[in-house]
Amino acid sequence: MHPQRTAIIGGNWKMNTDRASGLALAGSIARGVQELHNAGKRVEVAVFPPFVYLPLISEALCAASSRVMLGAQDVYHAERGAFTGEISVLQLQDVGVGTVLAGHSERRHVIHEGDDQINLKVRAILHHGLRCVLCVGEKLEQRETDQTNTVNERQVRLGLRDVRPDELDRLVIAYEPVWAIGTGKVASPEDAQDAHRHIRAVLADLFGKDAAAGVRIQYGGSVTAANAAELLKQPDIDGALVGGASLKEADFMAIVRAAAQ
Ligand code: PEP
Repeated sequence: MHPQRTAIIGGNWKMNTDRASGLALAGSIARGVQELHNAGKRVEVAVFPPFVYLPLISEALCAASSRVMLGAQDVYHAERGAFTGEISVLQLQDVGVGTVLAGHSERRHVIHEGDDQINLKVRAILHHGLRCVLCVGEKLEQRETDQTNTVNERQVRLGLRDVRPDELDRLVIAYEPVWAIGTGKVASPEDAQDAHRHIRAVLADLFGKDAAAGVRIQYGGSVTAANAAELLKQPDIDGALVGGASLKEADFMAIVRAAAQ
C-alpha cells in the first residue's frame, strides 16, 4: 500500500444475506468503521448488498450517519427504458448508491458478459459521477500458460476504452484472479504485487504515470483476516475486494483494520 493512496475495502455480499442479516451486518460494520475513524485511522469501506436490499441498507447507513459507502454489484448501461429486469445508474443513485462493480468474474464467466458490455457499464457509472470498481483477472488455465498479464492488460484496456482522464479519481481496479475467488486459494503477495504492478503500468500507458499512481488497485480472491496484512504490505495493493469473509462482521472488520492507516 502506498501511503499516498487511502486503502479501500469492499464487501461483496453476492446473492447472500436477507433483510435481517443484511441489516445486522451493515450496522455492525458501520459501528466498527466509525470506531476506526474516531481513533484517527484512515480507510474507505464499501458494502455491496443484493439489489433488493439496497434501499433498506441505504436507509440504515444514513440513519447511522455512516462513513460506509453503499455499493451495487452490477448495473445496466442505459439510463431508462425497455430493459426488463435491469437497473440503471440513475436508479442506483436514487437509492443512495455511491459505488458500482463492473465486470466481476461471476458476471464475466457465469453470466457471460463481454468486455464491450463491461466498458459500456464503466462509462455509464463514471459519467454519472459514481465510483466504478472495474474487476479484472485471469482464469487458472491462463495463469498456467503465462497469460496473466496479457489477460489483465486486455481487460483493463477494453474496460477503460473512452474513459476520460478527469474520471480517473472515481476509478478503482480490482485484480481478482478467477481461480482464487471463493476457492480458499489466495495469490501469493509477490504474485499479486506483480499483477498489480503490471496493471498500474497499463494505466500509466493509457493516462500517464501521475494519473496511474493515483488509481487504487484492490486485490480480491479468498482474502481473509489471516492473509490480508501480508497482501496489503505490497506497494501496489491498495485494498481488497472481499466475498466470503465479508459476510462475517468479525472477519471483515479484521481485514478493514489491517488496511487502516
Ligand atoms: C469476490 O467475490 O470478489 C471475492 C473475491 O470472493 P472471495 O473473497 O470469496 O474469494
